[in-house]
Amino acid sequence: MNLTAERLDRIAPSQTIAITAKARALKAAGKNIISLSAGEPDFDTPQNIKDAAIRAIQAGETRYTDVSGTKVLREAAAAYFRREHGVEYKPEEIVVSTGGKQVIFNAMLATIDAGDEVVIPAPCWVSYPDIVSLAEGKPVIVPAGQNQGFKITPEQLEAAITPKTKWIILNNPSNPTGAAYSEAELKGLAEVLLRHPQVWVFTDDIYEKLVYGDFKSKTMVEVEPRLKDRTITMNGCSKAWAMTGWRIGFAGAPLALAKAMDKLQSQSTSNTSSVSQAAAVEALNGPQDSVEEMRKVYEKRRDLVVGLLNKATGIHCITPEGAFYVFPSVHGCLGKTAASGKKIETDEDFVTALLEDEGVAAVHGSAFMFPGHFRISYATDDASLIEACTRIQRFCAGLK
Ligand code: PLP
Repeated sequence: MNLTAERLDRIAPSQTIAITAKARALKAAGKNIISLSAGEPDFDTPQNIKDAAIRAIQAGETRYTDVSGTKVLREAAAAYFRREHGVEYKPEEIVVSTGGKQVIFNAMLATIDAGDEVVIPAPCWVSYPDIVSLAEGKPVIVPAGQNQGFKITPEQLEAAITPKTKWIILNNPSNPTGAAYSEAELKGLAEVLLRHPQVWVFTDDIYEKLVYGDFKSKTMVEVEPRLKDRTITMNGCSKAWAMTGWRIGFAGAPLALAKAMDKLQSQSTSNTSSVSQAAAVEALNGPQDSVEEMRKVYEKRRDLVVGLLNKATGIHCITPEGAFYVFPSVHGCLGKTAASGKKIETDEDFVTALLEDEGVAAVHGSAFMFPGHFRISYATDDASLIEACTRIQRFCAGLK
């Protein structure tokens, strides 16, 4: 009898975590490595949020809470959705989990039966297809390339939906591309969804506070309230408030789904950390200046990185609306040979050679179900970004 279950064979370990670990090992071995592979803010959690957590510890808020989160946090999340989007959720329609990742996990495991299909526009975040597969669902990948701004069209969505479609997962702005759907683009997708009442909408808005220029983040229920009774609106503190380690995700959902997720969570993790929940209340209700300061820094870095990458021969990078990623194409580099003699046939060859020859860690596009590209996270300081892009330019110039 095998030790591991058949269920485990359906999924792969996160490739972003694998590359980050490889970069860390090379660094430990003394190599000069710049790691642009992790999807994590380089900022520290704002002080007012840390202080709220310290106060919670001192006040003895160290016990189990309701599975779906403290009332005060669920009210803060409801207030967030009202303030940001004019969308109303009652506290009992809010579920707080151990990161946005657990919200996705809960929603899929609580609702998918074997063979149910889940439409996932690609490039997509590495975990969506694996979570769907673990739940015995079938990921239906819908590709959207650079030429369409990495966003699917209503026609593509219509063509992907079958009677077995249970969910569509929208990620707005996206990891790995930074692309975000405008209000009109969401409306176009909503019109298709209104014609298919069996399809539920999972909208992962975890990067929505990180958008640039005059782009305005909208969420599906705000754009099309008629979808509210079959949409889950997910968010979390990890990215905008620089709180990856605190593990706070939250969502507003129709009551039946919120209850189903609460039931599943009650038999897995129970509530997320009580101390983190107190910190999240401050993140959502407290002053937002630090979020705005970080957003401005990311915007400058985005412009810096896009400009430098487009100077590298064979690379083409479009300017994304949000998040802290760019997803350039490497088509002009494929079929060539690096100065070190390595053949570059695929995006994976490209990132492997880039790491080994120049010490720059990035993630290949195929990890995001979209070959021919790579992802750079610009959540790091300007000097490292400039040095990394200089190395990428040198690497590309050396391809023959
Ligand atoms: N959704 C997207 C698109 C992400 O990029 C991430 C993290 O990388 C998450 C959800 C989950 O974040 P967390 O579990 O830290 O809230």
